[in-house]
Amino acid sequence: MIIEYNRPKTLDEALALLARSEPVTVPLGGGTVLNQPLDKTVAVVDLQSLGLDDVETEGQELKIGANVTLQALLQAGDSLPALAEAIRHEAAYNLRHMATVAGTLVAADGRSPFATAMLALNAQLSIVQQGKDAEQIPLGEMLSLRVEHLPHSLITQVTIPAQASLAYQYVARSPADLPIVCAAVAQWPSGRTRVALGGHGEIPLLVLDGNGPDGATIAARSAYSEAGDQWASAEYRGDVAETLTGRCLQELA
Ligand SMILES: Cc1cc2nc3c(=O)[nH]c(=O)nc-3n(C[C@H](O)[C@H](O)[C@H](O)COP(=O)(O)OP(=O)(O)OC[C@H]3O[C@@H](n4cnc5c(N)ncnc54)[C@H](O)[C@@H]3O)c2cc1C
Repeated sequence: MIIEYNRPKTLDEALALLARSEPVTVPLGGGTVLNQPLDKTVAVVDLQSLGLDDVETEGQELKIGANVTLQALLQAGDSLPALAEAIRHEAAYNLRHMATVAGTLVAADGRSPFATAMLALNAQLSIVQQGKDAEQIPLGEMLSLRVEHLPHSLITQVTIPAQASLAYQYVARSPADLPIVCAAVAQWPSGRTRVALGGHGEIPLLVLDGNGPDGATIAARSAYSEAGDQWASAEYRGDVAETLTGRCLQELA
């Protein structure tokens, strides 16, 4: 339950509120998770007056404000149609207008198409905390260590490479359902290739980060070789992961 609402106008004010240990205070992005019934009490810091809602290309990077909505990013992301596809797959139209980039990454589980695509793109998060220098943390590290990185902290920006190409493929029970398996492959002009899989477990998995795509399909099969649950057997997921990764690589070639 939300017991206190704050809407600071400056970053310093927001960080001071988040630094409190009582009441437990968390950032409020679009509120689509935080406004659901919670089994704990929290104070929230609404980020909408902090100006964290720009998307800008700077050199070889796309800098995305933490509070940019998924719909705004979808509309801004002309250069990465596969990212737009993953965003469409993440949430329906109404939800995309509320859910923010940072909120979606913080709340993501292994079935999140957006987090899978951003993991392939090696998204970097700028994280700040009162009295400390801003840190750049790779998304993969934040997802595995949310408990260590997030308390009292604020994600202010998410950066992805502007020069990388992305392919995204998925299999789901219906086109609008979350994936049983999804694969995202990002490729840089240098040949660097990163492959991420989603559709299972607590977080998407990084399967390959190499100088080229060699071994990617086998690595994808092997990464999901034990990913069985109520939705699909491990054998099925391994097969599909290999196939989807192969399709992404063909698309990029
Ligand atoms: C009807 C409905 C259906 C949904 N269906 C699905 C679904 O099928 N699958 C699915 O995965 N999700 C689903 N969700 C969850 C939700 O849509 C997403 O996880 C959403 O994108 C969260 O974004 P938000 O900005 O609304 O987050 P919020 O609710 O504002 O915050 C989510 C978390 O992120 C933290 N946070 C937010 N901004 C920051 C920041 N800048 N820095 C640090 N921490 C931050 C918050 O403190 C909180 O812990 C659904 C939600 C609704 C309401």
